[in-house]
Amino acid sequence: MTSTASGGSLTTLTAAEIAARLQAGEVSSVEVTQAHLDRIAAVDPAVHAFLHVDADGALAAAQRVDEDRAAGRVSSPLAGVPLALKDVLTTTDMPTTCGSKMLEGWVPPYDATVTRRLREAGVVILGKTNMDEFAMGSSTENSAYGPTRNPWDLERIPGGSGGGSSAALAAFEAPLAIGTDTGGSIRQPGAVTGTVGVKPTYGGVSRYGLVAFSSSLDQPGPCARTVLDAALLHEVIAGHDPMDSTSIAQPVPPVVAAAREGAEGDLRGVRVGVVREFSGEGYQPGVQRAFEAAVQQLSELGAEVVEVSCPHFTYALPAYYLIAPSECSSNLARFDAMRYGLRVGDDGTRSAEEVMSLTREAGFGPEVKRRIMLGTYALSAGYYDAYYGQAQKVRTLVTRDFTAAFEQVDVLVSPTTPTTAFRIGERVDDPMAMYLADLCTIPANLAGNAAMSVPCGLSDEDGLPVGLQIMAPAMADDRLYRVGAAYEVARNAAQGGPLIDRVPQLEAA
Ligand code: GLN
Repeated sequence: MTSTASGGSLTTLTAAEIAARLQAGEVSSVEVTQAHLDRIAAVDPAVHAFLHVDADGALAAAQRVDEDRAAGRVSSPLAGVPLALKDVLTTTDMPTTCGSKMLEGWVPPYDATVTRRLREAGVVILGKTNMDEFAMGSSTENSAYGPTRNPWDLERIPGGSGGGSSAALAAFEAPLAIGTDTGGSIRQPGAVTGTVGVKPTYGGVSRYGLVAFSSSLDQPGPCARTVLDAALLHEVIAGHDPMDSTSIAQPVPPVVAAAREGAEGDLRGVRVGVVREFSGEGYQPGVQRAFEAAVQQLSELGAEVVEVSCPHFTYALPAYYLIAPSECSSNLARFDAMRYGLRVGDDGTRSAEEVMSLTREAGFGPEVKRRIMLGTYALSAGYYDAYYGQAQKVRTLVTRDFTAAFEQVDVLVSPTTPTTAFRIGERVDDPMAMYLADLCTIPANLAGNAAMSVPCGLSDEDGLPVGLQIMAPAMADDRLYRVGAAYEVARNAAQGGPLIDRVPQLEAA
């Protein structure tokens, strides 16, 4: 079996490197899995990326892959590679809490399509990662189970809502993770932890078994430490699913081929648009400078860089905070104390309505309640047209901005977030400040486009990671990977290696 020493080196490999070693028979999946479980045991008390670790299940899955490989039955490229799964996707063998007391201990009766595809590909699920309650938040501080900490600085937030998934990557607890992105919850944690996060085209990855927050925006996607690893994972989870009515019945864009092409080539012939509206006031100067250096590098790679105006992107955030809460208020009505999880005050003397009210009062945290109230208000008779209806019109205008922009350019770029990771506690009492973390990521959700965050260096002010956001038209996810991979190679060469190599070493707790 494995020792902690070999475990140390196995956990710093990329998923592609692990896969190659597994295929060459140099290491077994059980060894790789054990090494990651050891790492989790050592550092997760400090990071708190995981809500649930399934050591026995992971080792059993790894054992099966090793046996299948010995028998010549393994075909998937990621078979035997460990992964951390956001706790908003259902799993029949582990609880799915969505970071909420409402679902504490709930073990779903079915696997999400993403979960099923991972299992079928032999990917080893280590456990479930921490998140803001029902994916509402930008810091993971809204988890009912306590915050996750950013491995770059344990006093800072790892982003949200999928802070657990990105922190697990940055702490080398897993080489791959799954997130979900409704307004930025894959890309923003990716940016502030120096990792890669991709929101696929809406409908590109099935939402079946993803506990719904805002159904017209929610999208699962890959998180990794390299662009190629994200592409390999993207191809495992993407593709049409008849169980999701909004799933797109088209072939998956060739993201792995695009990542390989990008890593080997330049960007000649690629037109890159810099979004004019995402700069200036409110943007941390260190973020701005790292972003400008990235744009310079794209042009040195041969891309044709132009400035593009998307005038309605400024209104995307307010529109999102009407649409998302509206859909949330409807989706979260299912937590009625009867069907799932928590039930409070059911002592035989109270009506169903009273039990429902007591349960929702006790089971939901303050941000979830705020969203439900906001959404209920926005949808109520007399206000519907003024709020929800207006927001839907803005959504159309944002989509038209993208359409016009993509007539001029192949991809759009911006900083992923206006600032680097902020301190734990800094924005908890100021919802507006918290919401601003998603200023640049929300337009792609409203339009259903594909978008990626790729590490673009450290801010020269605070030494914390900055993300470069790349956005592409719907079903052109491969463009993200081509540009992202080419940029990653150039950045690593210019800045002396992968950014993630500079994450401070976490001492075993
Ligand atoms: N931070 C945003 C929100 O709170 C986005 C969340 C998400 O993408 N799940 O709604």
